[in-house]
Order: sequence, then C-alpha cells, then structure tokens
Amino acid sequence: MAGEPQSDCLFCKIVAGEVPATIVRETETTVAFRDINPQAPTHVLVIPRVHYPDAASLAVGAPTVAADLLREAGEVAAQEKTDAGGYRIVLNTGAGAGQTVFHVHAHVLGGRGLNWPPG
Ligand code: AMP
Ligand code: ZN
Repeated sequence: MAGEPQSDCLFCKIVAGEVPATIVRETETTVAFRDINPQAPTHVLVIPRVHYPDAASLAVGAPTVAADLLREAGEVAAQEKTDAGGYRIVLNTGAGAGQTVFHVHAHVLGGRGLNWPPG
C-alpha cells in the first residue's frame, strides 16, 4: 500500500538503515544522501521516509511531505553551496523518463553548468 514500507524497495531499505548510504541531511519526514553514480559535483537524492512511487502520488497521498521534499532539496543546495550558482531539482517519473527506483526521489544537481533542455 502506498505510504507503507516496501520489502523490495532499495530506498525503503536506506530509510531503514538496512542499506548503507552517505547521508547529508535528515528530517522527521525525509532523508538526503549522495547518489552512488554522481552526474555533477553535487548530486544528492532527497527521499520521503514514506514509500510513494513518484512525485505526483506523493503529492496526492501526503501533500505536506511533498512540500518537505522540495524544501529539503533547497536546504541541500544551500548546504552544498550550489544555491548561488544555480541548481536543478529533477523528479524522473516513469521508466521512459529514466526512473529506475520507484520510491520517489528528488535529484539535486549542481556545481557545474547545467544545460537546458536536458537530455
Ligand atoms: P532514477 O534513475 O531517477 O530512478 O534515479 C535513481 C538514482 O539512484 C540513480 O541516479 C542511481 O545512481 C541512484 N542509486 C541507485 N542505487 C543507489 C544507492 N545504493 N545509493 C545511492 N544512490 C543510488
Ligand atoms: Zn520505498
């Protein structure tokens, strides 16, 4: 059920401490950790502790946590000092858009020039 931990979900396991991660920030509702395959000098993933597959379902099921996720993305950018130079928050949704882990996660990318439109 949405919101409940999923036994086969990698990011639920990171939330539970069952899979190690380099955590950079934590709140009551979110965890932020470094991406294992960084695409920029700063590449941090911000996830809700609750399991929802994507951003839209999180916003429907737990709107305050969706707001927490975006606020924390900004806090990560500030902590990483990428906020002045500009940063990007990416929420890949669906396999066709490159989503590989179906526990919603905001990529926070910064520390280099970021082209637009993205690939
Ligand atoms: P997406 O392709 O948008 O679903 O993003 C999934 C991201 O999770 C990718 O950027 C992966 O590099 C990252 N990732 C996968 N496994 C781990 C892990 N164990 N720790 C940190 N990041 C991971
Ligand atoms: Zn999960």
